[in-house]
Amino acid sequence: MKQLNLVENTAFNLIKQAVIYLPEDVKQALQKAYAEETSATAKTQLKTILCNIALAEERQAPMCQDTGTLTFYVKTGARAKHLDKVEKALVNATRKATKEIPLRPNAVDPFTQKNSGDNTGRFTPQLHWEIVAGDNLELTVMPKGGGSENVCAVKMLLPSEGISGLKKFVVDTVINAGAQPCPPTILGVAVGGGADVALSLAKKALLKPLNEANADTEIAKLERELLEAANMTGIGPMGLGGKTTVLGVHVDYAYRHPASFPAAVAFNCWAARRASARITADGAVEYLTHKHVR
Ligand code: SF4
Repeated sequence: MKQLNLVENTAFNLIKQAVIYLPEDVKQALQKAYAEETSATAKTQLKTILCNIALAEERQAPMCQDTGTLTFYVKTGARAKHLDKVEKALVNATRKATKEIPLRPNAVDPFTQKNSGDNTGRFTPQLHWEIVAGDNLELTVMPKGGGSENVCAVKMLLPSEGISGLKKFVVDTVINAGAQPCPPTILGVAVGGGADVALSLAKKALLKPLNEANADTEIAKLERELLEAANMTGIGPMGLGGKTTVLGVHVDYAYRHPASFPAAVAFNCWAARRASARITADGAVEYLTHKHVR
């Protein structure tokens, strides 16, 4: 029971941190974009976004009315205890957060259109598990809005299309998305695996901090090229024109079938929310992304 409470309380704090405070790297990228934009309209949009972020912190209110659907990434040590209680704790935290923060109820049965009212339901919140060595439990929450989710895309390219086909697909996807995902956005791009693996990797790539370069220099180069190409579209902040359509691109990959070349693009809007914490076996909690807030 003690472990259940610890996980539930930590998950609740993470949801609260994520919906109120943008991670520092995203804030800094938005401030840099504001400083570098030359169009008056683009500057006004970015200034409004930065004011919105400051007001959310000051008033302890979610930064966007769409608090999204919640995805939890759980990295668990193989020797961690009470793992059978974790899912229940995350569901409880989601219910409590919906009521107390509050979050907008965003979980709807696709057949009956009934809203559960508490952001829970079949496969909601979503859970991804990863088993690592040790006995710690690392929790990450990603609240993701509908606007950015609606423009995610996956395409089965021909293997012969290669990396130039991938680049075209990414830029076409950004152009088709236009203003819908509330730019400036962050892009998660993945190739390989099957269609499901590519999309899952692309979405998980959105968790990487913007100021962390890819360790693989070839992939880091591809990320820079995709960023430059996406920003050449001129879509700009909130789709009203400007230099900053995308703040950053993260690329990941999996090995593929010789006959398949799945490619996926996941978007995060400017409200690129994420928060992580580590719970140690002795019950200590370390907040990893929001060290200065509880
Ligand atoms: S796309 Fe993002 S910023 Fe725009 S309404 Fe949805 S959650 Fe809010």
